[in-house]
Amino acid sequence: MARKLAAGNWKMNGLKASLSEAKVLAEMFPAPRVDILLCPPATLVAAMAEVLSGTKVDVGGQDCHMKTSGAHTGDISAEMLADAGADYVILGHSERRADHGETDSIVCEKTMAATMAGLIPVVCVGETLDQREAGDTLDVIRKQLSGSLPDAVDLSKLVIAYEPVWAIGTGKIPTLDQIAEVHDDMRATLTARYGAGASDIPLLYGGSVKPSNAAEIFATSNVDGALVGGASLKAADFSGIVTAL
Ligand code: 13P
Repeated sequence: MARKLAAGNWKMNGLKASLSEAKVLAEMFPAPRVDILLCPPATLVAAMAEVLSGTKVDVGGQDCHMKTSGAHTGDISAEMLADAGADYVILGHSERRADHGETDSIVCEKTMAATMAGLIPVVCVGETLDQREAGDTLDVIRKQLSGSLPDAVDLSKLVIAYEPVWAIGTGKIPTLDQIAEVHDDMRATLTARYGAGASDIPLLYGGSVKPSNAAEIFATSNVDGALVGGASLKAADFSGIVTAL
């Protein structure tokens, strides 16, 4: 059985004052039944790690470079994130794929870099609306999983997030049957490649998750948690999602 994980992706939101939301969240869950993760912008990773030290809420980055160091202005390495106190890193988010041309093979290299640095990669996949309407969803997800994950992975230190691009920030979510179809297929695809240990990989759903729809999403087959954008910014909202898991 995969562990349960409620993960927040703050994206390009949050200033130092926002750290109070992280503190409030941690205080609400001194002994949570599930794992809780917040991924603030890179500027806040170290400060958030300090604010959350000794609590049950983990910290993650939102991207890393595939190299450990060097002439890559503006980038940060997985090792640097770990050094700043991160435990996880989100990789291959559709916004990175769209805004920065990240391909599956780039995401794969970043995943290896994250693992080498001791971080848990949260590898994101998801179809566009055009791909869904063309009936290509499962093929797209299988191809992304195949290309974005290395052959050698530590199955106990890997998280996958299914985020349909058209559901991100739109208030639209797939039907529960559509979510189950993708999550069941991801589990089967991962098991075919990595063996029975793939049942330990948390499969998160992401895209317009809110306190009001979280419980039904979490009751869906092979959904082990959520990767939450907008509703992770305020402790009052995110706590409702954590409680539903
Ligand atoms: P929203 O929850 O704001 O739709 O964002 C989802 C997402 O992209 C999380 O990574």
